[in-house]
Amino acid sequence: MEHIYDCIIIGGGPAGLSAGLYAARSKMDTLLIEKAEYGGQVTTTAEIENYPGSIENCTGSSLSERMKNQASSFGVKFMEDDIADTDIDGAIKVLKGKRDSYRSRTIIIATGANPRLSGFKNEEQLRGRGISYCATCDADFFTGLDVAVIGGGNSAITEAIYLSKFAENVIVIHRRDSLRATKYLQDRAFHNSKIKFIWNSVVEEAKGKEALEQLVVKNKITGETRKLKVDGCFVFVGYDPVSQLFREIIKMDEKGYIITDEEMRTNIEGVFAAGDVRKKSLRQIVTAAADGAIAATTAESYIEKMKF
Ligand code: NAP
Repeated sequence: MEHIYDCIIIGGGPAGLSAGLYAARSKMDTLLIEKAEYGGQVTTTAEIENYPGSIENCTGSSLSERMKNQASSFGVKFMEDDIADTDIDGAIKVLKGKRDSYRSRTIIIATGANPRLSGFKNEEQLRGRGISYCATCDADFFTGLDVAVIGGGNSAITEAIYLSKFAENVIVIHRRDSLRATKYLQDRAFHNSKIKFIWNSVVEEAKGKEALEQLVVKNKITGETRKLKVDGCFVFVGYDPVSQLFREIIKMDEKGYIITDEEMRTNIEGVFAAGDVRKKSLRQIVTAAADGAIAATTAESYIEKMKF
């Protein structure tokens, strides 16, 4: 008969890995399923400065590797699979992956979020040929060259600062005249001589035959367009939750973020959500890790109650 786990965690980012650590330490038989890379979005972050205790030169990849090793040392099992279908209404939850199917008493959804496209012409055509969504992965290609960064949030400004270590010029194109990023990051960017800003502007089109050559940038106030010659363009305009699989069954807000209570319970008994996929006000590694710990602890109490 197919094995029944106490807890299956979907997603191997900080929320999922922290949930795994807490679940395994409370002696739940725990499986973590990840479809691609452990660490999730964090692995695309070059420098982690605001996770308490993260040391100098702490990269997203090194932090997630340590988190995975720690969870593994307490007994979390890991499986690479892409869950394509679910039956999670009953006491035993069933997850059907592309490789195998899995059964568990509780599920923790920690599927995170994916980078959003900005929506300009040729964005998808030139993706990987000058247009990127990951500075850590691609910054090196643009050493000594000119790059644009689209967005004004924490991601855009963090990555613009990182890119300035490689590129000759980093031009931040933002649709308003003030940044959304924290003041600390703003100060660092404003004092960085390699970073310039184009305010109140959006990219309408990317041009280039083999690779990106130019961006067509429109000023939203004057309506004027200009051609900006750049070698690379990094898009950081937010993220969309990876929650489609549960759309029909789990309560979400209008953007697809899963609604939970403070103990990470969803509207389905025995199903919890943690991290960036959850509706909440602050999406950080520290809050993802906290969510994971709470979700695992609530899952454990749920299983204990089921026994009586
Ligand atoms: P975000 O905070 O939602 O910011 C997205 C930015 O993109 C905003 O400036 C927004 O403009 C702009 N934008 C959105 N759609 C656009 C479009 N179609 N065209 C042009 N610009 C567009 O997203 P994020 O920066 O990726 O951050 C996501 C979450 O991760 C946040 O909670 C953030 O705090 C967190 N995070 C934290 C850190 C850190 O603490 N170091 C680093 C990275 C991310 P408006 O400002 O006009 O809306």
